[in-house]
Amino acid sequence: MSKDPVIDPRLYCPGPTPIPLDVQIASLNGSIYHRSAPFQEITQNCRKLLAPFFNGDQLPLILTASGTGAMEAAIANFTSAGEKVVAVNAGKFGERWTKLCKRFLCETLELQVPWGKVPSPADVAAAVTKHNATALCIQANETSTGAVLPVEAIAKEVRQAKPDIKIFVDAISYLVAHPMKMTEWGIDVVVAGSQKGFGTPAGLAFIAYQAKLPFSDRPRFYFDLQTEAKNQIEGKTAWTPAIQTILGLEAALKRIHSVGVEAITKHHANLANACRAGVKALGLKLFAAESPSNALTAIEMPDLDPEGLRKQIATDFGFVIAGGQDDLKGKILRLSHLGLVSRFHVLDGLAAIEFALAQRGRKDVLGTGVAAAMRAFHDACATP
Ligand SMILES: *Cc1c(COP(=O)(O)O)cnc(C)c1O
Repeated sequence: MSKDPVIDPRLYCPGPTPIPLDVQIASLNGSIYHRSAPFQEITQNCRKLLAPFFNGDQLPLILTASGTGAMEAAIANFTSAGEKVVAVNAGKFGERWTKLCKRFLCETLELQVPWGKVPSPADVAAAVTKHNATALCIQANETSTGAVLPVEAIAKEVRQAKPDIKIFVDAISYLVAHPMKMTEWGIDVVVAGSQKGFGTPAGLAFIAYQAKLPFSDRPRFYFDLQTEAKNQIEGKTAWTPAIQTILGLEAALKRIHSVGVEAITKHHANLANACRAGVKALGLKLFAAESPSNALTAIEMPDLDPEGLRKQIATDFGFVIAGGQDDLKGKILRLSHLGLVSRFHVLDGLAAIEFALAQRGRKDVLGTGVAAAMRAFHDACATP
């Protein structure tokens, strides 16, 4: 098979995720003022519609930044210089917590976890105790490896060891694909972003924090969450927000709520389950197989030139699949099924991999992964 005569560009990378047409269209309104009542109502509505993805005791705040901005806001508002922090590094994004905490002069102990693995609750609790930490930073879903971390169990065990610890969770690639219950699980701060599970253009970050969490006295300006919270009570924002992205966000959230919060999470479990079945049927190995994410599937294939395969799929079919980063470069492919995507997204992604493999002499694989994924989808529908 050669290059497709009609290229249909699609995103299979774990952020940005595909943006549905209605969300794109909602983002096109260029005649709305952010200090007007109708816009403030939209912002407030977005905060309310976001809340059931966090389940904290306050509405999340909407920041104009990428996800990392909300991570920085968490550290700038709720930690102090010299504070003892444990940062869990189970991949590229875990590394980001460590770098951020160090830059903000926290006394940071990095708990290193081999990439593709997840830490046990006991490991994290032991690190926190050993370092006598007053804060813990962790990912809920490590996008670079495709592993979902047991944050509920970790939060509970860590809090048993250290009742007053502050727990910061990066759920940027986790929300919508997995459930989050901040209050119930004892998590203090959760951050997320618009371009991942929410199927919205990039440019917005979300942060929810529990009401009792004390603010630190560090200097901060743009990311001063107290100023932001005061404004956002009325749907105002402290600064000019990414107006058009907020318009798109409202459309995306309405769409998600029309399906239902639990149903969309279940949908992601089905997408992931079918994708894994397809990968195994192709005779390929799952990376992060111990705790695979519902947001993306990482496929281990060091002997099959994943970088070449990825480039070929991008050129021939217009599908952008992610590869591995750092040590994982040339070893894995990461196929995202996060966001507002249907079952056909997974089937087409597997089909693209099969076509590319067939072109390299593996004609036997044609249809095998797709068939296994279809059966998994069918079974998931047949057994409620
Ligand atoms: C995408 C992502 C981020 C944030 O990235 P930005 O480019 O700043 O939006 C942080 N953590 C995880 C786990 C992510 O997947």
